[in-house]
Amino acid sequence: MPNRIFVLAVSVLLISACGQGETPAEDSSLLVRFSAVSLADVASAEALTARCEEEERALREHFAVLESYAGTPTVDGFYRSLDSLGTSRDNMQATASSLSGVHPDEALRAAGEACEQLMAKIGTDMSLSRPLYDDVSNINVEGVDEITRFSIEKTLLSYRLSGVDRSEEARERIRELNDEIISVGQEFDRNIREDVRYLELDSVDDLAGLPEDYIADHQPNEDGKILISTQYPDVFPFFEYAESHDLRKAMSLQYNLRGYPQNEEVLQKLVELRYELAQLIGFNNYAELVTADKMSGSPERVTGFLEELDSYTRDVQEREYAVLLARLREELPEAEKLESWQRRYISSKVRREQYDVDSKVTRQYFGYNDARDGILTLVQEMFGVRIEPWETETWHEDVKGFELYDGDTVFGRFYLDMHPREGKYQHAAMFPFANGIEGVQLPVAALICNFPEGDERMQFSQVVSFLHEFGHLIHWQFAGHHAWNNISGISTEWDFVEAPSQMLEEWVWDYETVSRFAKNPEGETLPEDLHGKMVAARDFGIGMGTRGQLAYASLSMSIYDRPPSEVDFDTLAGDITRQFTPFEPLEGGHYWASFGHLNGYSAIYYTYQWSLAIATDMFTQFKEKGLNNFEISRAYRDKVLAKGGSAPANELVTDFLGRDISFEPYADRLRGTSK
Ligand SMILES: [Zn+2]
Repeated sequence: MPNRIFVLAVSVLLISACGQGETPAEDSSLLVRFSAVSLADVASAEALTARCEEEERALREHFAVLESYAGTPTVDGFYRSLDSLGTSRDNMQATASSLSGVHPDEALRAAGEACEQLMAKIGTDMSLSRPLYDDVSNINVEGVDEITRFSIEKTLLSYRLSGVDRSEEARERIRELNDEIISVGQEFDRNIREDVRYLELDSVDDLAGLPEDYIADHQPNEDGKILISTQYPDVFPFFEYAESHDLRKAMSLQYNLRGYPQNEEVLQKLVELRYELAQLIGFNNYAELVTADKMSGSPERVTGFLEELDSYTRDVQEREYAVLLARLREELPEAEKLESWQRRYISSKVRREQYDVDSKVTRQYFGYNDARDGILTLVQEMFGVRIEPWETETWHEDVKGFELYDGDTVFGRFYLDMHPREGKYQHAAMFPFANGIEGVQLPVAALICNFPEGDERMQFSQVVSFLHEFGHLIHWQFAGHHAWNNISGISTEWDFVEAPSQMLEEWVWDYETVSRFAKNPEGETLPEDLHGKMVAARDFGIGMGTRGQLAYASLSMSIYDRPPSEVDFDTLAGDITRQFTPFEPLEGGHYWASFGHLNGYSAIYYTYQWSLAIATDMFTQFKEKGLNNFEISRAYRDKVLAKGGSAPANELVTDFLGRDISFEPYADRLRGTSK
């Protein structure tokens, strides 16, 4: 019997003890309704659609009651009711949206998308409701605790950024635009997800250079052809090891054609819609709107930050390029320059020869099951929690459930969905299912990855990415215990969101941590000197790698910080490639067409680098006091992770550090001058 305990979907009638002259009937109409969605209720496309429509009706009713509320708005009355409305909407939205990215049934994925649109529509209507805004503005906050006050302020800001204070006519148009942005964005994502391309090889000889297990998995089909797909587990080893420069170039072209040409028109549309939306809300462009509630606060601050990083990395990239070109010339003496499709391959050789790190050797030490167990153990020890299997309904037999315990108390639940499947989201990410609310519902989320299975070997970079995503997951779990939806869970500023995940990556560079799970198939532990070499090689390529990130960040900002009429994707992407990388844009490629973040992140891809700068600063505490120092990891859990969005991220980090945030440690690392 599956033990599905989704914490309560109770409807409580709240009779608030407020102002004279109010009839009890008016107040008891303030429904507090937290509606949970169980996977068992949405196990088929039909069931999901029915559940979603039922939820929509309930939300609309609840919404109407709040809109026509005539009493005095209070925290325990009106605000609690509004919060439960938002939470219920988010529950349905998160589940539908997550399933649309992972469910094996195509019809269910489509039903998930449709539900996501319905929920987004209600979200838009709520965010544009003048009566709701006015009532929240009129809540008397005297004597109210600081965190609740912060939650109310945050609510009011998000109303204003939605355009609630615009004219009726403008709000009508904003509503339409939001609907359209969701569906066009979904189309953009779908075009990428579904466009799996293949390079066709004629013989096993074309796999020269690749690891044996890879070759064994890629034998000719009945037509004598070998197909290499653009899915990560196929394509990245190919870029790194395949000896043929021509085949890597051909593969690279396939990879950079994903989503093209379908996404050209779609992206154009998306950019236009967002521009119009920003202008209606009172901003010059979408980049201004989307940075208004971030730590950075403006596109100018972001551009300044990118320029700063540009200056730290220029020389480093030049030195790295010289090393790579010299190595390429050992193979191709007449080569005048290094091309983009040669970078991973040659970098890998340099690591092997000059740093003595061979990823074919290192990957022998990272079996999926061992890495998973190792990461689960690390998290348990680091934060003093326990992880137990959770017998529950899932969407596929590969998916496993887990529960997190603090002492004897379950405080969060998660799923691991770690291996590729057709139609599944192709990257690695944490997908939310329920935001935790104290006394109402536990946080639930899933890690969605595309790693090898069982005892199959992983690339070391996949282990890093596993830990990264786990960083998001524990943030979600620890933070999901506040009283209000908009400050609970990962509700902190978006440009801080990647800091906990990127900081956790640091632990794979710690031998004490890694040696506990890094074992080859013979059971031998990763030798310490090999790990030492991996650490030494770690930052080789940091200049080029970071500048690649700056190129993405700059493209994302530039597409949204000006009128759409001034944006030509190929020209812009080409110019930015030349500005930040030493490579010419790939002829015939259109990488922006599969740059999925242009939908979900819009202008703010910079957030990764911003967060990394903060992560590097936070990590100085561990570096100084010890990676396995429980006192410091507990302080980090309490002062940063558990606080969620209940205070500005700047305050949380400053409190943890005992001083202001500094980008200097990151600058040192980029320049290669870290101690
Ligand atoms: Zn992340």
